[in-house]
Amino acid sequence: MEARELITEKLNDSQLRKNLDFAMSLLQTNRKKLLKDRYGDWEALREEGRKVKQNTLSRLPELLERFEENAKKNGIQVHWASDAKDANDIIYNLAKKNNVTKILKGKSMASEEIHFNAYLKKKGIQAIETDLGEIIIQLIDEPPVHIVVPAIHKNRYEIGEIFEKHLKVERFSEPKDLNAVARTHLRKEFQEFKMGLSGVNFAIANEGAIWLLENEGNGRMSTTVPDIHIAICGIEKIVESFDDAVILDTLLIPSATGQSITCYNNIITSPRKDGDLDGPKEVHVILLDHHRSDILSHKHYSKALSCIRCGTCMNHCPVYEKVGGHAYGATYPGPIGEVISPQIFGIDRYGYILNLCSLCGRCSEVCPVKIPLAEMIRDLRSEKAGQGSGEEILGISRIKPKMAEKLGFKIFAFLASTPWAWKSMLWGVKVFGPIGKPLAPLLPMIKQWTSCRAYPTLDASFQSQKLEGVIYE
Ligand code: SF4
Repeated sequence: MEARELITEKLNDSQLRKNLDFAMSLLQTNRKKLLKDRYGDWEALREEGRKVKQNTLSRLPELLERFEENAKKNGIQVHWASDAKDANDIIYNLAKKNNVTKILKGKSMASEEIHFNAYLKKKGIQAIETDLGEIIIQLIDEPPVHIVVPAIHKNRYEIGEIFEKHLKVERFSEPKDLNAVARTHLRKEFQEFKMGLSGVNFAIANEGAIWLLENEGNGRMSTTVPDIHIAICGIEKIVESFDDAVILDTLLIPSATGQSITCYNNIITSPRKDGDLDGPKEVHVILLDHHRSDILSHKHYSKALSCIRCGTCMNHCPVYEKVGGHAYGATYPGPIGEVISPQIFGIDRYGYILNLCSLCGRCSEVCPVKIPLAEMIRDLRSEKAGQGSGEEILGISRIKPKMAEKLGFKIFAFLASTPWAWKSMLWGVKVFGPIGKPLAPLLPMIKQWTSCRAYPTLDASFQSQKLEGVIYE
């Protein structure tokens, strides 16, 4: 489906908008309340988090090697994957070697990024999701709508219907009943599996350990019950020490869900040792690059690799709140998606999502590691329009702007930076604006704009008003 059609479809889905409105307000309120009640100096903590990530990224190659060395000493097998195919092949070969036909999956955005489920399906291996949100969307064959809460676009009544239809159970709508259905469904699955897959929140170089955060216990089941645990870890998830990871964890959880701590913290330091009652016999960590090294080499856009995937930029984005994650058509939606999707998957293919932004700057204000998201979205737009740094992004040639577009922006830049011209333009708008109203449906470019908006009442009086910016926090 074309991007425009997709966005129009989402905008016209009133149930989706109601669900998103409710969910995003709840996430925003919970976060705000927690920060006010429990955190003395959130801003200082954000600054610490920013420094931890910047320091880590500036020494990433060295820390990755240290992680590999220490993880190997602990008995963890480390694999390097330069792209999605490499990562999928590593997992497939491990599955084939161990005669595995089904893999239990905890939540992992990296696995979504490499289209792991689809790849394995082609090879005759089934991936079984265990996170409640992921189960819901797997049943209806949809991708995650959000990086933290993958089925946030569905309300409990819709989830009850999905379970009734696909799991052949009675229709429920109470959360405790829905949880019970999912639990019964999963318990059967957990007993049969040899291989489990998870993501990684932090990979700690000094310890050679990985840290997984979750709220449902499915992550712990997927990583301890099967004989083989595979963790996919984007290379930017490395931190030097537990101390660094604790700072980021303290920023991540309130930002993501408005909790101060997750229900489960799984710190995996090795495979099962003699005398251990449980745990996998083999632990594999796949260090996934997939264009992250290219992003890292860019001095401005490399800041995007500081992302700790809390999702709060989505929760506070006025555009995401209206259309949801599927409208972006990319694995990573929302403000961070606008910054990294064009860089990971190509600006030619995903450049259009840069338009799903009003540049209000709210995302930059709430980001716990202070990524200047709005600034980067604006700069990527310039790159896309051929007016950016002049560097090619990821070796992909920039889209050539149309002559008319180029001329239009030149005229706008002149008007916006020349007071007498701007005032004359406003005067012209006031005098000639009303004449444009009956003509609007006939004029090629304006026709599109007014097809879904009311023609504005044009008034030049605001030139004399004193306007103030908006600060959200
Ligand atoms: S960019 Fe910042 S706010 Fe958005 S998901 Fe990443 S860490 Fe969270």
